[in-house]
Amino acid sequence: MIDITRLLEEMSSTELRLAIQVQTKLISLIREFLLREKFVELLPVIISPITDPLTDFRVRGEVECYGYKYQITKSMIFHKQTALKAFPRIFCFSPNVRIEPAERQNSGRHLIEFVQLDLEVREASREDVLGLGERLFSYVIEGIRRGADEELTLLGRKLPEFKPPFERITYEEAVREFGQDFELKLSAARQEPVWLLDFPLEVREFYDREYNNRPGVLVDMDLIYPEGYGEALSGGEREYQVERIQERIRKKGINPEAYAIYLKLAESGLYPSAGFGFGIERLTRFVCGLKDIGRTRLFAKKPAQFSL
Ligand code: ASP
Ligand code: MG
Repeated sequence: MIDITRLLEEMSSTELRLAIQVQTKLISLIREFLLREKFVELLPVIISPITDPLTDFRVRGEVECYGYKYQITKSMIFHKQTALKAFPRIFCFSPNVRIEPAERQNSGRHLIEFVQLDLEVREASREDVLGLGERLFSYVIEGIRRGADEELTLLGRKLPEFKPPFERITYEEAVREFGQDFELKLSAARQEPVWLLDFPLEVREFYDREYNNRPGVLVDMDLIYPEGYGEALSGGEREYQVERIQERIRKKGINPEAYAIYLKLAESGLYPSAGFGFGIERLTRFVCGLKDIGRTRLFAKKPAQFSL
């Protein structure tokens, strides 16, 4: 049963209302920034024959319509690459459904339905989108510090100013310093955002590009928030040549049939590109200084919790 008491309590939470007021401004600042950078906004895709495989989440949300099987979007990665055939710079506020493990219910950071700002740039390098991400992040933080100071004061949040360029460390260095499970430890050890670079192939999806001269290492990144808030965004350069994509799908042990449409598109020619996905609820949580991601949106759905 849906817990109506919890739902009503949420609706009357001052913290949640303030956070959503801040979020409204965040979304407007993001749009303002990207439109100025000549991006085109796409409407979200909710169902599609293919979606992000996300190897660590095996449960697939499926809907059947007219005898066709659609997947519920886990991310619009393949649509982003495809859309670059029409426009050089695209973004979307994309709703994603990821059936997270039940143990993550009270992590403070996981929702099974969330929205990410998903963007992709034709012929861009990781360096290009890293720079774009830093400028976007600083612009939004500055805009909120100026334009939502009342809400932040009421929330008791002192939001620092962040000046790019941000620190960079490699995945290998992070593991060496903090061990395999490093995300939160690294985040808690920092007062400024930090870029985490060069993930090993095993821990990422097949679409992030492998270095030509470093087999098994990817030209990708995460941005990690300071103060223990964990991951802000993930992205990287993409594989775009059909043979390389086939090879990467094979290495993941995925049946290529499942991605036949994508392989056909790649055969027709995808542009080289780079991009990232930036979680809106997590950004709201960080900006507002909240413990519980359940306070960053109405109708929040935590793992293994039945909600409206
Ligand atoms: N597809 C990634 C994700 O949703 C983001 C990206 O690489 O653009 O986690
Ligand atoms: Mg990620």
